[in-house]
Amino acid sequence: MKAKKNKRERSQEMQQVSAGLRDVLGMTQRRKEHPQATWAEIEAAVDERMNQLRAQLIQDVVHMGETEEWSQRLKEERPKCATCGKPLVGRGEQTRWLQTNGGEAVKLTRTYGTCPQCGVGFFPPG
Ligand SMILES: [Zn+2]
Repeated sequence: MKAKKNKRERSQEMQQVSAGLRDVLGMTQRRKEHPQATWAEIEAAVDERMNQLRAQLIQDVVHMGETEEWSQRLKEERPKCATCGKPLVGRGEQTRWLQTNGGEAVKLTRTYGTCPQCGVGFFPPG
């Protein structure tokens, strides 16, 4: 538990975020209800909530970078095939679920595209 390595002071900013999260994640209340909780129990509870938050955060950040619907754009402005360079043809939106390291699933909605030349289909980034 006591990691001598990586022993560093958290920044002031991180301490403030933690104080806010403690309430938002229900940890303050939980601690009051379970004053005898062990280190492992506290860690497991924090992990569970943090993993959920983590998944939501990843989902939000990913969607932040999303540009508008590309399939309606002019050919020259559409994403291009990684193999032959032809502009992709939009095939509608598809939803994928990705697994995070924390074991939570993240929902991603992307416009799926196929190449008119080689027929390869994929999700262009952004
Ligand atoms: Zn192609």
